[in-house]
Amino acid sequence: MTKTLHGTVALVTGASSGIGEATALALAAEGAAVAVAARRVDRLEDLAGPNRAAGGTVLTIAADIAGQDQARAAVERTVAELGRLDTLVNNAGLMLLGPAAATPVEEWRTMVDVNLLGLMYTTHAALPHLARAAADGPRRVADVVNISSVAGRVAFAMSSAYCASKFGVGAFSEALRQELAGRFVRVGVVEPGSVETELREHNRPEVRAVLEQQFATIERLQAGDVADAVAYIVTRARHVAINELLVRPTEQV
Ligand code: NDP
Repeated sequence: MTKTLHGTVALVTGASSGIGEATALALAAEGAAVAVAARRVDRLEDLAGPNRAAGGTVLTIAADIAGQDQARAAVERTVAELGRLDTLVNNAGLMLLGPAAATPVEEWRTMVDVNLLGLMYTTHAALPHLARAAADGPRRVADVVNISSVAGRVAFAMSSAYCASKFGVGAFSEALRQELAGRFVRVGVVEPGSVETELREHNRPEVRAVLEQQFATIERLQAGDVADAVAYIVTRARHVAINELLVRPTEQV
């Protein structure tokens, strides 16, 4: 039986670990050729190897998407080497938390540069290709899926800049959705609660201790749970657009 995404090409940013890695594997399992971008190419190759051995197509791309040129180059290389672009998953991100007054401004800048501006750069570069895929691709629909967060829906103390970056993702996505709806380029946002990934590890020790305590008794989501949400969005029929999915661990309040 032909897989739903057979003949399509997806680009997943931040695919060297966690949600991005799981999403790349999920889209490959649905039949997509997948381009995976991140800074740690060795980790991308770890993901690509078994997939290629199983007959899949995986293109690894070294890119720091905080730089507009590298973000654009990642998109252009995907199209040059895989021939098209039907699905863009903007997943790359980081979460550096702490009370505003005690946070180095550099941490804020990095989050806005990657979580928001980086996502906007890849999207800007991808839009002409996505419009082309929607006009004449195998499914005659294309997708942008932006990985936001519960913190893109509700603001929390200790998370001011992370929330600001993710609220920005929500606003950008909704405006884009309205602009592209008539061209069959769907825009979806996935808003995970706490997921068991490397994300928390980049925080200062005192912040990590607070985060571990908050979730000590809660079973977090697995990266695959979020990948399932992305795969659900991009495998819907052409006339169905899932605009927003909020996915929390059951016990997370
Ligand atoms: P991980 O830390 O496991 O993954 C983050 C990914 O982003 C890595 O592949 C990393 O790759 C990539 N990345 C970071 N900075 C850059 C950059 N400048 N250029 C390119 N890639 C970059 O965390 P998650 O899988 O949890 O995070 C994925 C997304 O999910 C993020 O947007 C995060 O905000 C969101 N999210 C996560 C939640 C959680 O609880 N884990 C909850 C809600 C949302 P590399 O370092 O190799 O460049």
